[in-house]
Amino acid sequence: MAEIQLEDVSFSYVDRTQSFSALRGVSLTIRDGEFVCLLGPSGCGKSTLLHLLAGLRLPERGSVRIHGVPVKEPVDDCAVVFQSYSLFPWMTVRKNVAFCIQHSSRGLTGREAVQKAEACLAAVGLARDMEKYPCQLSGGMRQRAAIARAFAMDAGILLLDEPFGALDTRMRGGLQALLEDLWNSGGGKRKTVVFVTHDIDEALLLADRVIFMEPGRVSAEIPIELPRPRKAYLGQPLYAGIRARLSGLYYKEDQI
Ligand code: ADP
Repeated sequence: MAEIQLEDVSFSYVDRTQSFSALRGVSLTIRDGEFVCLLGPSGCGKSTLLHLLAGLRLPERGSVRIHGVPVKEPVDDCAVVFQSYSLFPWMTVRKNVAFCIQHSSRGLTGREAVQKAEACLAAVGLARDMEKYPCQLSGGMRQRAAIARAFAMDAGILLLDEPFGALDTRMRGGLQALLEDLWNSGGGKRKTVVFVTHDIDEALLLADRVIFMEPGRVSAEIPIELPRPRKAYLGQPLYAGIRARLSGLYYKEDQI
């Protein structure tokens, strides 16, 4: 069974005076354990789509199903990482992670949640920073902690909304590799990942399949058949060829 299924989904933002149609008739299937990137320019509806998957907003028409069940409220099986403000500012990093683990994994004691949090934070290189508050960390460290927290939670689906958008290129590269390693370490029980980006290389480095969006709709779905880790192919003709194809689709509207 497909993990995530959208059928003819439309969504409008409505306020007292007007209505804005952000998604129109989107149909999409995402497989169990698949890593997909939603790629498209600002304002085309990527974040709106992610909110619908998480059950943070509900479609005006059509249906979103997770494990075959229609989404009617925030989905327990989803962990979400945003570009910023993903951590609770009033909790230490250790507490941030332990709190979410305890609330998502039934049956764990407080001590066990803390131990799991410490192991996850150590795995992302934050063993020495657990007692710090988010405001005491760099942007990259904060996102590292947010990703550790999302992976530590007992959720089968991970939704990321431009999580590295505010970081410099080097930090971004490190975190992309970390995210891919964590996802890969799931082996046969990999999490299903939906990653929003407007960066072609980020999508090409990470995705099993790139889903292109144009305002309000999905315009193309391209499977990426390049072995991982793809960084090894940077600059090679194979990488350049796939990149050129993605780039052509991405800039299609501008070329018309
Ligand atoms: P993206 O993530 O691709 O940048 P969004 O999903 O954030 O796009 O937004 C899609 C469209 O919906 C944009 O035109 C945006 O201005 C509009 N939009 C987003 N949030 C709201 C809102 N809360 N109220 C009204 N319009 C919104």
